[in-house]
Amino acid sequence: MKIRLAAYLQPDSIVDGDGIRTVIWTQGCKHNCPKCHNPETHDMFGGALIDCEEIKKQIKDLKNQDGITFSGGDPFYQPKECAYLAKYIHSLGMNVWTYTGFTFEKLLEMSKSDTSIMDFLKEIDILIDGPFIFSLKNFSLLYRGSSNQRIIDVKKSLELGYVVIAYHDEVEEENSFGRNNKYMFV
Ligand code: SF4
Repeated sequence: MKIRLAAYLQPDSIVDGDGIRTVIWTQGCKHNCPKCHNPETHDMFGGALIDCEEIKKQIKDLKNQDGITFSGGDPFYQPKECAYLAKYIHSLGMNVWTYTGFTFEKLLEMSKSDTSIMDFLKEIDILIDGPFIFSLKNFSLLYRGSSNQRIIDVKKSLELGYVVIAYHDEVEEENSFGRNNKYMFV
């Protein structure tokens, strides 16, 4: 199985999630968020196709990483491949964070016709969801670019049936959804 990536694995990031993390930059995104910071990752045929077994080798050789973050691009355009890698990452004892331009609720809807989306969701510890909205941009936000985006505890959310926010920060008061709300989806 091959996955389309925008760049080499990037170890030692401290801005793409909790702790010291390696980022997997997936290639391909159709959200077209105005003023996106990574427009070179949008082309669905750009980047390079890499064998997942080669990526697993690179992941196994990583040192002193708390987890892996899937970013892009949007990893949910390649859910089967990402689920496969995320399962392997968990087997090595590292956690999995993922960025997506889809909302969590939209992914649940999409999973009804594409089971690999739920396979991937089940292998994600933390999901940062929603498009980047320039008018809601705030560089003070924890781990995300605009205040509409949520830092979601996926396992608890799937278990409880509503969106559980994993991390709050002060500026989240500006979030249009309001703080400490429960985002019911079932
Ligand atoms: S989802 Fe991310 S990569 Fe895609 S257009 Fe929006 S900001 Fe850019």
